[in-house]
Amino acid sequence: MTNKKSVLIVGGGIIGSMHAVQAIEAGFSVTHLERDVKPQSASIRNFGLIWVSGRLAGAELELALRARELWGKLGAVAKIGFRPNGSLTVAQTTEEFEVLQEAAAMPDAEARGFHLLTREETISLEPALAGHYRGALRCTTDAAVEPPLLLGGIREYLAKSPDYQWIPQTEIVDFSHNENGNHVTDFQGKRYSADYLAICAGAEHGKFVSEFLHSAPLRKVRLQMGATYALPVKINHSFADADSLRYYPAFKDLSLHRLGEQGEIATQYKMQLLAVQRLDGSITIGDTHEYQEPFTHEIHEAPYEHLRAVISNILGTEAPLIERRWDGVYSQSTSEDIYLRKEIAPGAVIVTGVGGRGNTLSPAVAEETVNSWRA
Ligand SMILES: Cc1cc2nc3c(=O)[nH]c(=O)nc-3n(C[C@H](O)[C@H](O)[C@H](O)COP(=O)(O)OP(=O)(O)OC[C@H]3O[C@@H](n4cnc5c(N)ncnc54)[C@H](O)[C@@H]3O)c2cc1C
Repeated sequence: MTNKKSVLIVGGGIIGSMHAVQAIEAGFSVTHLERDVKPQSASIRNFGLIWVSGRLAGAELELALRARELWGKLGAVAKIGFRPNGSLTVAQTTEEFEVLQEAAAMPDAEARGFHLLTREETISLEPALAGHYRGALRCTTDAAVEPPLLLGGIREYLAKSPDYQWIPQTEIVDFSHNENGNHVTDFQGKRYSADYLAICAGAEHGKFVSEFLHSAPLRKVRLQMGATYALPVKINHSFADADSLRYYPAFKDLSLHRLGEQGEIATQYKMQLLAVQRLDGSITIGDTHEYQEPFTHEIHEAPYEHLRAVISNILGTEAPLIERRWDGVYSQSTSEDIYLRKEIAPGAVIVTGVGGRGNTLSPAVAEETVNSWRA
C-alpha cells in the first residue's frame, strides 16, 4: 500500500466492487472487505442486464446513461463479459405494439436508442426470434455482462493495482469514527481504519447497520429466476415481453391500460419476462416479485411454466427446458431518491437500495460517492 488517502469498502457485491473501481481509478488506496468466501448475494443472482431502456426520464435516465458509458470503459479492460448487445421488447398483440409505438415517440427516445421494428425487421436482426408476435422495441443503449464472471473479473482488474487489497471471509460487526478517521471491526475483533468508508451491504439491513437503517425508506424484494439448457442458436439481444412495460418507470405515462389484464400467473407472481442468452448458450430467465416479508422459502413451478410459454411463443419453437432455478433478494429505495446514500459520520456512507437497477446503475452510483470524497 502507498501513502495515498485510504478507503474501506464493506461488501463485495457490485455496488461495493464498483466503489473499489472508482476509488482506485481516482487514486485512493482501497481495502475491500466481504463476509463470504465469494460474494453470493444479489449481484451474482441477477440477469447481468444493463437496462437503460426502463429508467425514469430525467435524473435517473442521466445516471443510467453515465453508468452505461462507465460500463463500456470497464468492459474494455476487465473480463466481465460486457457486450453492447441491445434489447428487444416484444409485442405479442396489436395493442402492445401500439404502446411500443408510443414508447418509440417519447421525447428522450433517441437518447435511449429506441427504434420500433416490425416482426420481419426483428427477425432479420435475430433470426431465432421467429415466433408469433407483432413487432419489437429495440433499445441500442441496453447492454449485458456475465454475472458468473463479473465480480471475479473486476477483482482481477483491481488486483493489478498495488493499492487494492481484497479481504474475504471477514464479517464486519462494528463501526466507529474519531479524529483519526473511520474504523470497522470484524467478527474476530480485528480493526480496519481509513480516511473514507463505504458500507455496501446490499439487502443486509440488520446487524451492525441496523442502528443506521431501522427507519430508512427501504424494502426488500425477492425474485425467482432460472436458466434453461443451452439453445443451439445465438440470440445477441436481451429480450423482454410487453409485461415489462408495466414495471419500468420510463413507460408510466404511456397508455398502459391498452396492454389489458395480465394473465393469472403473471398477476399472481407480479411477473414480466426478461431473458438474456449467456455465453454458454443457456438463457437466463425471470422474474417474479415478492414485496411482503416474511418471504416464502419455496421456489414455485408455475412462474417457470409461464416464462417458457412466453419464450416459446417468441421463438416460434419450444423453449429449452429449465436446468437451474434460484431466487434472490435486493434492497430497494421506497422514497423518491433513486437509491439510499446515508452519511453516518464525516467521510463514511452507507450505499444501498438501488433496487432492480443496481447492476445497471452501479458504476455511476459509485462515481457519485467517490466524487464526494474528492471534493
Ligand atoms: C434475481 C435478481 C435479478 C436482478 N436483475 C438485475 C439486472 O438484470 N439488472 C440490474 O441492473 N439489476 C438487477 N438486479 C438488482 C441488482 O442485482 C442489485 O441491485 C445489486 O446486485 C445490489 O448490489 P449490492 O452490492 O448492493 O448488494 P449484494 O450483491 O447483496 O452485495 C452485498 C455484499 O455485502 C456483503 N456483506 C453484507 N454484510 C456484510 C458485513 N457485515 N460484512 C462484510 N460483508 C457484508 C454480502 O455478503 C454481499 O456480498 C437483480 C436482483 C436480483 C435479486
